[in-house]
Amino acid sequence: MTDSATNAPIDDTDRPMRQSLWRGWRRKCPCCGEGKLLHSYLKVNNSCSVCGEEFHHHRADDGPAYLTILIVGHLMAPLLHVTFTTFRPEPLTLFTIFAVGCTSLSLYLLPRLKGAVVAFQWAREMHGFETSA
Ligand SMILES: [Zn+2]
Repeated sequence: MTDSATNAPIDDTDRPMRQSLWRGWRRKCPCCGEGKLLHSYLKVNNSCSVCGEEFHHHRADDGPAYLTILIVGHLMAPLLHVTFTTFRPEPLTLFTIFAVGCTSLSLYLLPRLKGAVVAFQWAREMHGFETSA
């Protein structure tokens, strides 16, 4: 395993959280930042094609969906209230705008949050991501 910026070997105990989360958000390998973490929208690759880091033991489960609902709900519910009380649009217009907005935002966030959750587990050495001797 090598660091992509410096091409220096990564110390197995050196897994910076912020860098890992950013790489996961970009759907890249949290270890090298080069290889793809996901394929087919949400499926996690078994291993990195660049550095060979294994991802098959991740346990993202419902975490990314939970975070997506949490964020989209907390953004769109107040926005819906403000839009309704301020502009009083036609109900069908309001529904159409917010249905498209919620769906689009969810589809945007879900794979990025899944990458971030897997990267978090990698950085914290959870669920089989522990360093191998
Ligand atoms: Zn990699």
